[in-house]
Order: sequence, then structure tokens, then C-alpha cells
Amino acid sequence: MDEDEPEVLFVACHHCREIVTPEIGLDIIGRLTTGYGSDPAITALVDQYEIWVAPVCNPDGLEYVWNVNNLWRKNRKDFGNGEFGVDLNRNYDLNWQSLCGASNNPTSNVYRGPSPQSEAEVQTIVGLSQARNFAKVMDFHSYGQEVLQGYNCAAMPSLIDTWIDNEAAALANPISFNTRDPSADGEHYQWQIKASTAYAFLAETHTSFQPTHPSALTEAAAVWPMNLAFLQRPLPLVGHVTDASTGAPVAAGVSIVGLTWSNGETRRSEPQYGRYHLNLPAGTHQVQFDAPGYAPQTVTVTTTGNGTTVQDVMLMQGGPFALAAFTSGGGVGDFTMDLYNLPPGTGVGFTLFSLQTAQPVGTGGLFGLAPDLLTIESLVSPPGPTNPLHWSQPFVPGVFPLGPLTLPPGTVQIPAGTRVDGVAIAATPAYLQLLAQSSVVRLTF
Ligand SMILES: [Zn+2]
Repeated sequence: MDEDEPEVLFVACHHCREIVTPEIGLDIIGRLTTGYGSDPAITALVDQYEIWVAPVCNPDGLEYVWNVNNLWRKNRKDFGNGEFGVDLNRNYDLNWQSLCGASNNPTSNVYRGPSPQSEAEVQTIVGLSQARNFAKVMDFHSYGQEVLQGYNCAAMPSLIDTWIDNEAAALANPISFNTRDPSADGEHYQWQIKASTAYAFLAETHTSFQPTHPSALTEAAAVWPMNLAFLQRPLPLVGHVTDASTGAPVAAGVSIVGLTWSNGETRRSEPQYGRYHLNLPAGTHQVQFDAPGYAPQTVTVTTTGNGTTVQDVMLMQGGPFALAAFTSGGGVGDFTMDLYNLPPGTGVGFTLFSLQTAQPVGTGGLFGLAPDLLTIESLVSPPGPTNPLHWSQPFVPGVFPLGPLTLPPGTVQIPAGTRVDGVAIAATPAYLQLLAQSSVVRLTF
């Protein structure tokens, strides 16, 4: 059933000669369907997750393995010049261009294909994944009894890299597999990390490409404790993003403040329910939510390492520069912004302007969370590094009484000599109307 649940994908047989792997996919289907309603652990997992299993990702290749060449690895793409096949597990758009552990020679067993995600099989997995926003992905290969973790050549934030390695060990331990870094980039499970911060790994199973069928069934049963652990490991952070006024789900970008990814990684809430997930080590993190037409919001969350933190977020409508230009007469340094008659729950963002440079010199957000309090949730510097007025000091979160609001001194550091001429306010529509009708904002420098 398609329900508001985190979604999980098991994939097998990207490489068609690895014929133990479809048996593992079928084993998972069998255990989940026959165990539901009788095995409490399986029942809980099926109730908790929406689970997808793709036992054969490379059907044309598998047919060729059974009938023509039992060591064929790639798909059967016909290039029309006597050359066939792309290595599907080098065709994904994660550092594809680097040729890390891949080849650009069509005769190679690790040929990456003519362009990222050129192959129908890969496009199928990508399309399914973009529609489902998988929280967990396990990709089965053979052989070698190992769990593969993270990227190879591509860079990953060390905080996440370390956490992924620890999780790989937690999956490998129940079945005494080893863990290791992968031998290439452009692999399926790596793309899942890039596309949706999925909890994604690759398991090399068995000790040969083509064991007997009884041996393959034995291996499928032997790896079940890993698959069970994979399903049972808690998602560190989940929640929903909704519209504060209507309650409707919002498809928002989700990012972790201070964590730099370098391969175009994205995280988002999906549009059907507004559901999102983030894989983070234990600790306190600042998570930012952005969506067109809404004021961005940053929340502080604590993840525990052994459970799931639930953090729902309501975004308030209102875009940047919805109401602009309160001339201050110019000034440098700290400033005071007075906001009056702020309705409870109002979200306000602001941008400081310099007419001298026609550039914003700082932006921020204030979010009312209680009838008589304001909590400063975020202050985000303008995009750098080319902006000469870029400032990087994080805003200090705090709680301030309603009425004249004085921002903490020193938190907005405007370069000496920069003239600040105004402020643009973004807020919920009702409060913008209030602002437009009366002098409820005063700036002093
Ligand atoms: Zn493989």
C-alpha cells in the first residue's frame, strides 16, 4: 500500500553474471510476505516502511548469461558497430565524469556508458527513486563477503563518511562480513546517497559468481540477518514539512548548516506528504528548510545515534523582498530593528541593503513561536565567495520579548565603510499588510 511511510529499496543483479543476487531479492520478498502477521519483527518493519524489491535490474543481460555467455557483466546495449553493453553500476551520475574505477572504452567490462544515466535500466531506477525519495537502499552484488561504504574518489564530509563506515560495520557484523571502501564511483548506491541522502550500501555476497542453486539459497538465508539489521537500524531524523497556514505538504530543500558537499548532493521533502529523512551521526545539528514562496527556516535538532528524532517543520509563506526599503540614513555596525504588533506565529525574514553597492549585506529570519516571544531562528549570509560583502559569522539564536527588538551586538558584521541604506522585510501576508499600513518598523544604527 502507498502510505505516508519511509521507503526502502532492495536491488539485485545490476551485474547479470552475479546470479546469486536475484535469489537474495526473492528471499527478502518471501520472508516479508510469509512473516507478516506471524513474526512480530517482520510485521513491525512492514508496518513501518514501504518496501520495494527489484530482484533483476538487468534482465537482458541475465537472459544472455543463461543462454550465451555466463560471464557477461554489462547490459546488452547495442552500439551498432559490433560493441555491446554498459556497466550499469558505473553509469550513475555520481562523479561519473572522473573515470574513477570506470572506463570510457566500450569494450571494457567497466565501460561507464556514453553519458551519465544513459541506460534504460539506470533511468528506470533513477525515475523510481525520484518518485519515491528512498530513505534506505541496499544493492546486492557478488562476489566477496563484504559491505561497501560511501564514495571512492569523490569527496564526502568527514562527519558523514565516518558515520557511514560505522553503519556499514553494524550491518556486516551480524553475518561476519568485512567492510571496505568501493573500487569506483558512479555506482548505484552512491547515487542514492547523492540524490536523497539515503542510507545506502552495497553488499558483495557469496564466494563465486555462479554457485549451485542450493548454495545460492543457503547464501540468501545467511545474509538475512544483515538485511534485517538494515531494516531495523533507526533513521536518525525524520519529519514532515508543511505549510503553516494550510497544513498542506511542502516539497522543500533540506540542508545541514555547515556541512559542505561537493558533488551536487541534494536532500528534500517529497511532495505527496512532505516527508523527509536525514542521515546524521549523533549530535546537535542545524537543519535548514527552503522552498520557493516560503521564508526559509532553520531548526536545531539533536540526533541520538540509537533512535529516531522526529522534527516536523511548518514553513510560512512570504518571499524575500516582498516589502522593501526602509531608509535608515546610512550607517555602519550594529543595528536595532523594532517590530511591533507581531501576530503570534508570524515568520519574518530581513535583508539589509546597501545602495552604495546595490548588494544585500546580510539576511536573516525571525520567527515568532509564542504569543509574547520571538525566537531568532536563522541569519544566513548572502552567497559567496565572490560577493565582497560576504560575512560569515553565524547569528546567535536567542529569545527576545515582543516589542522593540534589539539584535545582539556584533552579530551582524558589516564591513567598515559599507553604507546600509535599508532593509527588505519578508513575512506572512497578513503581517506584510500591517507593515504597509503603519510605521511599525524602525531601524536605528
Ligand atoms: Zn557486481
